[in-house]
Amino acid sequence: MDTSELLSDFTAFLREKKEEGKKIIAFISHDNIPEELIDAAGFFPLRLMFAGNDELMDSSHDYLPASTCAFAQSCIGLFSIKPDQYRFLDVIDYFIVSNHCVSDICASEIISKYFNIPRLNFYLSYTKNENSSKYFKLELINFKEQLEKIQGKKIETEALLESIKKYNKFKEILKEINEIPIRGEEKLYILQKAILYGPDITSEMEEYCQNSKQNIVEPTKNKKDILLTGCSIFINDHLINLIEEGGGNIIFFDTWIGFNYYSQLIEDKNLESSKDPLELITQRFKENKYSDHSVPNFLENRISLIQNYYNEHRSRTGKKLGVINHIIKFCDHMAIMSSHLKNRLQNEGIQVLNLERDYSRAIRGQLNTRIEAFLEMMEKLV
Ligand code: SF4
Repeated sequence: MDTSELLSDFTAFLREKKEEGKKIIAFISHDNIPEELIDAAGFFPLRLMFAGNDELMDSSHDYLPASTCAFAQSCIGLFSIKPDQYRFLDVIDYFIVSNHCVSDICASEIISKYFNIPRLNFYLSYTKNENSSKYFKLELINFKEQLEKIQGKKIETEALLESIKKYNKFKEILKEINEIPIRGEEKLYILQKAILYGPDITSEMEEYCQNSKQNIVEPTKNKKDILLTGCSIFINDHLINLIEEGGGNIIFFDTWIGFNYYSQLIEDKNLESSKDPLELITQRFKENKYSDHSVPNFLENRISLIQNYYNEHRSRTGKKLGVINHIIKFCDHMAIMSSHLKNRLQNEGIQVLNLERDYSRAIRGQLNTRIEAFLEMMEKLV
């Protein structure tokens, strides 16, 4: 899929937003940032969801050691080098500093400080209990006030409820798209595009969903079915091509760009009856079982999700499903649990490849070999 066209169209789209007088609020793409509040304030939430390369990683070493996660390094590199494809970064008005992980907070602070982008703060507690929910709500109130100050007017309750409904509907469509048996590369492209643009392209996504359902071409017959877990595959990453060229097809993205995003829905009955939209967002934070940020039993939840998906897939198709656990180098959130995840799933007969990598070109051959060997082994086991 042509990501250069995606990025060039997105540049034009963001310029239009600026011409409409919207401010662009950027942040490193992770869980729990309340994009509905940004939207309700009349701003555009821009997620940094772009993969890196050698140049981007190298250029971050003036700011952070090379032992920082490769994604965070690349985010800094984007601002340091500003490659032509990413010229739209010039239109960012504010940068959110949040603490999904250490790399996230360090990279966000550096981008704000050294590239002169005014910062907004949104912090999360590292526990999950009654007090952390109260803290989350206080942070929402604080974040809302920061946005209101920039906008010079209040964010009305009605406007926020409308934004929540809009995002909810958008996620419902992505959930539906996920069920359609399309090639993994195409599904990933659609998810990336959708999350990048947000609900502005709801009708395009609805149309895509309808058309794809009417023209189902089973793309996966001779391919090995793969569930991808761990770190997301960001825009401009060749990993998806390596998996497809090796004979695999990702049918389920158990990652932030994928299940973790579109599964965080708010029930219709709560949407209709609520008078307090911040409480709805807080409730969603409480119910977020699969995030790698401060969710007790996160790993157990993820393991049982994968087991259930595997069993359901096996009984429906008769095929095995391999699991690729994608670990971006120095992403401690994912790396620290990878052996346990692999052992637990392999004990249940589910084959797992822990694939740790950074964005350097030199390791492409090595990745290729490991993916091919894994897919070949799956063949023997079917
Ligand atoms: S360490 Fe992991 S969770 Fe943190 S920014 Fe990097 S990829 Fe994201």
